[in-house]
Amino acid sequence: MSFNVTEIREDFPILNQKIYNRPLVYFDNAATTQRPQQVIDALTKTYTEYYGNIHRAAHFLADKATAAYEETREKARALINAETREQIIFTKGTTESINLAAFSFGEAFIQEGDEIIVSEMEHHSNIVPWQLMAGRKGARIVMLPVDDDGRLQIEKLESLITSRTKLITVAHVSNVLGTINPIKQIAQIAHSRGVRIFVDGAQAVPHLKIDVQELDVDFYAFSAHKMYGPNGVGVLYGKRELLEQMPPYQGGGEMISEVKFSGTTYNELPYKFEAGTPNISGVIAFGAAIDYLQALGIAAVSSWETELLNYATAQLIQIPGLRIYGTQAEKSGVISFNVEGVHFFDLGTMLDKLGIAVRTGHHCADPLMDHFEIQGTVRASFAFYNTKEEIDVFVEALKKVISMF
Ligand code: PMP
Repeated sequence: MSFNVTEIREDFPILNQKIYNRPLVYFDNAATTQRPQQVIDALTKTYTEYYGNIHRAAHFLADKATAAYEETREKARALINAETREQIIFTKGTTESINLAAFSFGEAFIQEGDEIIVSEMEHHSNIVPWQLMAGRKGARIVMLPVDDDGRLQIEKLESLITSRTKLITVAHVSNVLGTINPIKQIAQIAHSRGVRIFVDGAQAVPHLKIDVQELDVDFYAFSAHKMYGPNGVGVLYGKRELLEQMPPYQGGGEMISEVKFSGTTYNELPYKFEAGTPNISGVIAFGAAIDYLQALGIAAVSSWETELLNYATAQLIQIPGLRIYGTQAEKSGVISFNVEGVHFFDLGTMLDKLGIAVRTGHHCADPLMDHFEIQGTVRASFAFYNTKEEIDVFVEALKKVISMF
């Protein structure tokens, strides 16, 4: 183990409590993570010391808030190795990042009859905004299928690309299967055919080292709340030449250069896409979350989470009637499973009564559920603050619950 989990856990006050009189085991990290005291302190400090509306006022508090807000933009840039800070657009989360990109890319580049390839393992938030855009523009959505191991069938990609294909959109890491998709390879295939690539990185940025230049992706989206930061903050990264050509997503303050009734001109990047007062304190505290992750080291985080994944998987596959969905070697710390004869909802509810937080249901991935012909799964998802002892507690609890059915 490359870092001290016991020490790390002391930074997370919420983890140190009992639920139904049992020590909390928090295995719902793919839904949202918990925050270290450093992030909570950054939020409090913003509100108690230097809160003001950013970019517009000529006073001390606003200047300080602006500087802190813009500092996070630089931290986010460095985190994913974006070329410039102007390519980091703050949104309220991955969902808004995708809606922004789908709308504005659609307006700029999609014509009637064009095609968008969407992978079968996508979260609804990386399907529906593209469907909405396709509906508006008369474009078509084409599905890139997964196989029964939860692997994306990349070999089918070439044949799905036509002269009308404009974009492929895919999750870097599946929130259901944990599958880590070969983004660099997909980007190469797409670009070789003149197709753009959008990557939903919501489940990747908290767990993997991301380099958007090395991956050579056109867009990349992620959420702060899944990476130990505040909720209501997200990022859209885009290649500059695309962002420059795309029209604003929302109108309002901040995104304009000059407003006249005869016509309005727009602000430069990234402000063109940041209409209105943003989540100022949230973005500032997001900077503290990035600092926290960087101090731990993403490589160390990844390797500990892989150890947890392997430790849990080895025990779970011993349980008769248990099936894991997503068995790819390249996998992040997410385990979705069902147990024969027991409804996933009952499993989740009874685990909760034993102090264990997991997720049950379709995980906002109906097409993937249809692929496996299931209604849902139980999902346990790990973060760097989880321990092997917690996995032991979880596995014992699971066996106990199963034995009751
Ligand atoms: N994509 C994936 C892969 C996700 O896991 C999630 C969150 N469950 C989202 C998108 C949406 O993220 P948010 O709710 O933060 O906008």
